[in-house]
Amino acid sequence: MSQVSDTTHAVRLDGKVVAGHLLASLRDSLQSVIKSSQRAPKLVVVQVGEDPASSVYVKNKIKTAQSLGMASEHRHLPESISEQALFAELDQLNQNPSIDAVLVQMPLPKHLDALSVIDRLGASKDVDGFHPVHLGNLVCGNPGGVLPCTPAGIMQILEHYRIPVEGKHAVVIGRSNIVGKPLSLMLLQGNATVTIAHSRTRNLSELTRSADILVAAVGVADLVTGDMVKPGAVVIDVGMNKKDGKLVGDIDQAAVGTVAGYLTPVPGGVGPMTIAMLMKNTWTLYQQHILQV
Ligand code: NAP
Repeated sequence: MSQVSDTTHAVRLDGKVVAGHLLASLRDSLQSVIKSSQRAPKLVVVQVGEDPASSVYVKNKIKTAQSLGMASEHRHLPESISEQALFAELDQLNQNPSIDAVLVQMPLPKHLDALSVIDRLGASKDVDGFHPVHLGNLVCGNPGGVLPCTPAGIMQILEHYRIPVEGKHAVVIGRSNIVGKPLSLMLLQGNATVTIAHSRTRNLSELTRSADILVAAVGVADLVTGDMVKPGAVVIDVGMNKKDGKLVGDIDQAAVGTVAGYLTPVPGGVGPMTIAMLMKNTWTLYQQHILQV
């Protein structure tokens, strides 16, 4: 760990640095594959409609895949596409042996049901790790699978900064299938004692003040204030909210930064890890597919 904490400011848990290490090691692995004349892993990103934020995310994912030497493709489908037509597209991607990993960018237009779409995609190409098979493996503690990117990235940050999880009280605010629930399972697997809070939780501040590790994955700007945090706690800010035209998290960074021991910034904390883990999952699926041939 390179940073040293002073008495007034939390150590910055720099997701860009951790993601940089992971991407560099993936780039090395890919170079050996390319040198040995094997085909490169291929990631396809399916975007439905014109959501501007989604367009930025898709562009970044494709750009990162290309920078590693992966093959990639952006399939941009019209907002009005029927479920049947989208399913036909996914079936085609599923049957194509040169494609290892498929991501359907969320959110989908309202007439499409995300769970049915993930189900149709199937586990063997679901690079997001959202398919029930991947989540089931996580529940059962089966190692080596494809894990949801954002929570897996958070665990990687904790590991990189050598922050112990075992025996700690972890409070996770948010219970979505993509962040809160899988992260809670991962922390549990690391032998933390985990409390999950959500919109119906009573006395949230009382709970958060007892957290050694506090994670906010909510989507409400500055929900967690300085008085809600135990001095010295590890605080992870997953939120991505727009406030006065700026990207902010769920944590009041200025106030919490003077109380917490460690804090992920926004931007530059969890966000870069999500993309890096996506690349790692593409690599994992590629290896699984290559072994099957
Ligand atoms: P989500 O599906 O909307 O879930 C939000 C969760 O927060 C729900 O469980 C909800 O409770 C809970 N909640 C809402 N208001 C609350 C309150 N006042 N007090 C306590 N809990 C409350 O969101 P998500 O997909 O998990 O994403 C959460 C945030 O993380 C968003 O800002 C999103 O943009 C961001 N995110 C960032 C990354 C990244 O790479 N940095 C990746 C994914 C998501 P109920 O279940 O009771 O409704």
